[in-house]
Amino acid sequence: MSAPDLPPVAAGGCHARDEMTQAARKAGVSELLDRYAADYPQGPHDKPQSMCPAFGSLRVGLRMKRVATVLSGSACCVYGLTFVSHFYGARRSVGYVPFNSESLVTGKLFEDIRDAVHELADPDRYDAVVVTNLCVPTASGVPLRLLPSEINGVRIVGIDVPGFGVPTHAEAKDVLAGAMLNYARKEAEAGPVAAPEGGVSDRPTVTLLGEMFPADPMIIGQMLAPMGLAAGPVVPCREWRELYAALDCGAVAAIHPFYTAAVREFEAAGRPVLGSAPVGHAGTAAWLAAIGEAFGLSAEAVAAAQNAVLPAIRGALAASPVAGRITVSGYEGSELLVARLLIESGAEVPYVGTACAKSPWSAADAEWLEAHGARGKFRSSLEDDCAAMEGLEPDLAIGTTPVVQKAKERGTPSLYFTNLISARPLMGPAGAGSLATVVNAAMGNRARMGKMRAFFEGVGTGDTAGIWEGAPNIREDYRATNLKKLEKKARAAKAEEMI
Ligand code: SF4
Repeated sequence: MSAPDLPPVAAGGCHARDEMTQAARKAGVSELLDRYAADYPQGPHDKPQSMCPAFGSLRVGLRMKRVATVLSGSACCVYGLTFVSHFYGARRSVGYVPFNSESLVTGKLFEDIRDAVHELADPDRYDAVVVTNLCVPTASGVPLRLLPSEINGVRIVGIDVPGFGVPTHAEAKDVLAGAMLNYARKEAEAGPVAAPEGGVSDRPTVTLLGEMFPADPMIIGQMLAPMGLAAGPVVPCREWRELYAALDCGAVAAIHPFYTAAVREFEAAGRPVLGSAPVGHAGTAAWLAAIGEAFGLSAEAVAAAQNAVLPAIRGALAASPVAGRITVSGYEGSELLVARLLIESGAEVPYVGTACAKSPWSAADAEWLEAHGARGKFRSSLEDDCAAMEGLEPDLAIGTTPVVQKAKERGTPSLYFTNLISARPLMGPAGAGSLATVVNAAMGNRARMGKMRAFFEGVGTGDTAGIWEGAPNIREDYRATNLKKLEKKARAAKAEEMI
């Protein structure tokens, strides 16, 4: 469907944030937008700077067993989202309910979505069907809340994940995790619920909030054992029944600090929530103490758990030192934890940027980092992260794709946060030395980066960008005329501002 076929709001997209917001408010979704504004405070970057936020919730749904996902949005958005999800190995179909200007404005789109969920709701195949409104249906007020909450025993969960209300794909994970926990909490309150496939623990559990490297929950479980506790499910969960077990915990560890809606559900269930994570020596000691406090355990029990792991962590950190200046930035929510680990390994980390907002669950990490010379920037923009990388001249820049790309152009060694840092354990003794190998190897590449930079100097930039069969036909006279036009336009804009 091309943009001219659509009503004005539908012709927008990632770059029509204000128009979309206005349209959504007119369409009666102010309450939702206000809640998102409170849950995910915005600024300085107020529009997606990375991939579409809905990818976060889409991926959470696609990774769950017996859960079907359906998107409702512009074809181009759905194309991008399905492409990325299959690129990341979804191996699952993504349902799509298309629309045109007529079905959008007449309400037929909602009927089509309702028909689609009725068709999909097969209890032999699914526990739940998740329907997601992307930007245009949200801005048009397509009322997913009016879908039946259950069909043939299959739960129907409708969420709105607009780019103009949910700032990052990390927070979109929370939108779906929160909606599912809300549903599961009400089910548990109404009567007995099923146990997860893997059974339930006979010890009190700590639910872990945030997607981690697969070994991390096991390592956390080992650290909790001396206190008579066990690691509970990881939220976002992998099957519906795990949601009940997650709610049925003694405390919640907000390992990733942006799960505001999920925390709301745990608090409604009466569970205490604690921040930070067991990373490095200081982080693990403080986290185990906080767990002990949440469960009302004795000082001896906490000391036993600490003594069981802290010497090994100290040893691992000492055995794998990191020397050099490193800037860290990303959008996963674990940036502060990674920075802590690097500092404890011996690195100088002057800047930590995270696309996530400040929250009570990252406060202790931010304080610790500041006391150790790191300036933390919440909701950092791509411009902030690049400026830090350029201005601080690090030996290594850890960041998102565009930051890494810019660093490479400058000959600065760099590592992708998502692919290379998040793919390693961070917690306890296993995490203590895990970053050193990859980080030190990257820093050792500076001379090679310099050689590559010298080799490619001037290629692909300015007049040499693109493919040319001969020398570029540079017309200085055109450039001068164009420059004059731009200056005139800027002067006119300035004059208008002054009126
Ligand atoms: S749904 Fe995602 S890709 Fe589409 S306009 Fe919104 S933010 Fe952009």
